[in-house]
Amino acid sequence: MMIHDILVVGAGLAGMRAAIAVPPDINVALLSKVHPVRSHSVAAQGGINAAIGAEDSWEAHAYDTAKGGLYLGDQDAIEAMCKEAPQDILELERMGVIFSRTPEGRIAQRPFGGAGYPRTCYAADRTGHALLHAMYEQLMKRRCKVYEEWYVTALLVEDGRCCGVVAWDMIHGGLQALRAKAVILATGGSGRIFSTSTNAVINTGDGMALAYRAGVALEDMEFVQFHPTTLKDTGILITEGARGEGGYLLNTLGERFMKRYAPEQMELATRSTVSLAIGQEIQEGRGVDGCVLLDLRHLGRAKILERLPQIRELAMEFAGLDPIETPIPIRPGAHYQMGGVRTNAWGETDLPGLFAAGECACVSVHGANRLGGNSLLETIVFGRRTGTKAAESIRGVQLPPLSEAILKSEEQRINLLLGNPGPERAWQIRDDLGKTMSLNLGIFRTKQSIQEALSAVQALNRRAEHMCVQDKGRIFNTDLIHALELQCLLEIAETIVVGALGREESRGAHYRADFPTRNDKAWLRHSLSYRRPEGPHLTYAPVTITRFPPA
Ligand SMILES: Cc1cc2nc3c(=O)[nH]c(=O)nc-3n(C[C@H](O)[C@H](O)[C@H](O)COP(=O)(O)OP(=O)(O)OC[C@H]3O[C@@H](n4cnc5c(N)ncnc54)[C@H](O)[C@@H]3O)c2cc1C
Repeated sequence: MMIHDILVVGAGLAGMRAAIAVPPDINVALLSKVHPVRSHSVAAQGGINAAIGAEDSWEAHAYDTAKGGLYLGDQDAIEAMCKEAPQDILELERMGVIFSRTPEGRIAQRPFGGAGYPRTCYAADRTGHALLHAMYEQLMKRRCKVYEEWYVTALLVEDGRCCGVVAWDMIHGGLQALRAKAVILATGGSGRIFSTSTNAVINTGDGMALAYRAGVALEDMEFVQFHPTTLKDTGILITEGARGEGGYLLNTLGERFMKRYAPEQMELATRSTVSLAIGQEIQEGRGVDGCVLLDLRHLGRAKILERLPQIRELAMEFAGLDPIETPIPIRPGAHYQMGGVRTNAWGETDLPGLFAAGECACVSVHGANRLGGNSLLETIVFGRRTGTKAAESIRGVQLPPLSEAILKSEEQRINLLLGNPGPERAWQIRDDLGKTMSLNLGIFRTKQSIQEALSAVQALNRRAEHMCVQDKGRIFNTDLIHALELQCLLEIAETIVVGALGREESRGAHYRADFPTRNDKAWLRHSLSYRRPEGPHLTYAPVTITRFPPA
């Protein structure tokens, strides 16, 4: 058995930032199912927001965030994030992040959707890569213990307090209890619930499922962001930075159709607006082979090579075209989970000893629609805050003796999977889940489509009871890990579906064609999902409004 003061689950930006924030006299360890720098944060392209421009202000950033999220974000948390952002960016720079520069040598900033000012700091179109590697260096410098390629299957909860985790050692095989006075979940998103997704295959909502199973509420799960511009077929992301640098969206008639949907902001309207516009163009027959076109040609070779080199590479490799000469076919794809484990602005959940930060958490700063560049910022600001708070919280805490019950029941769960005769396979169920979710809970939703998804997910749950793991070995058994991940995907998908069915209005990323308008009177409230044997149980909670009344 391993014992630490604080255990961070997840080694993306939120997890590493949290670990670094813990004072050096406290024993902190990180655990991750992949090597830290393979976490999805590494794929972030466009940038990270902070009001560091001379004419910008944190208040303007907070206003854009609240408004962009259709006033569903908690404004105390939004204020904290926007106020602390400039300091955090400077600190990142001191840690060694090489941001792109203006000719005067200042940190360059590009315009992003829904922002009233060019506020997005970037490292070309590989911002996540630059941030994650700098953070990993800091982690190494701090000599933090990292459990690499360990998979957490459950939280240890004793006497109403989270006291560690149960994890499967993927390299050697076998379950272990890892004990800690505080656990920070930083497990990222759940985009793989959908078949068209920008997310890495590891983004399976594990941390959300762990907290949910331990009785913690998941908040605002119906709000899944669909990024407007993902590559046809593969769903690979084409950063909003491409439009930030001046890219156009065209339909089959060669029209810049955004003039009909957002004449002022055009291509830089919020993501939910642009995704809906693209969906409508395609639905009304003005698409190009199930897509619309992203045209960068007028930016010229030099700008594309300097600012968007990775986008060019991705388009060449995965769509077989060079954006210097040809427009890129794109369509919306699942990108980001605005909802997640309910926390306050310090990452505390309702379960003592359990914290959450980053995409798996719902603080909530993004409300009904996240602005581009605000998610990387969230990982840094709330990662830091959560690490600090967790460190304060453990002073004087004594761990109770380990009760073996959870370890035993997890062992049983794994043996059941390994012994199951089938005939179902995890990948088949995952494929079918992705298809039904993309079809029925995509950018347009109706009561009927959501109900179809609900029955489909329930049927998939029944199929999952007959899931066979063909690899019976213990060493690097990816078949087993996929089966465990599928159980998380199904559980989280159900909370999205039930949340979407409950919310009879349209707000941000949640567009109900049968309730097409926003209804503040009835629905300016968070939805909370609790786990019950029969499925998710919904309750609602008020939104914190401070200085920006809903308009
Ligand atoms: C392609 C792409 C581009 C993006 N671009 C931008 C951008 O330009 N700007 C922006 O603001 N946002 C962007 N986003 C969103 C942003 O990158 C993510 O929301 C953010 O990086 C998430 O960071 P995280 O630390 O919460 O999680 P992640 O970086 O996803 O890390 C999750 C960690 O949890 C671990 N983990 C998960 N489950 C388990 C388990 N069961 N056991 C053990 N370990 C586990 C994983 O191994 C991993 O280390 C982008 C997202 C994508 C997909």
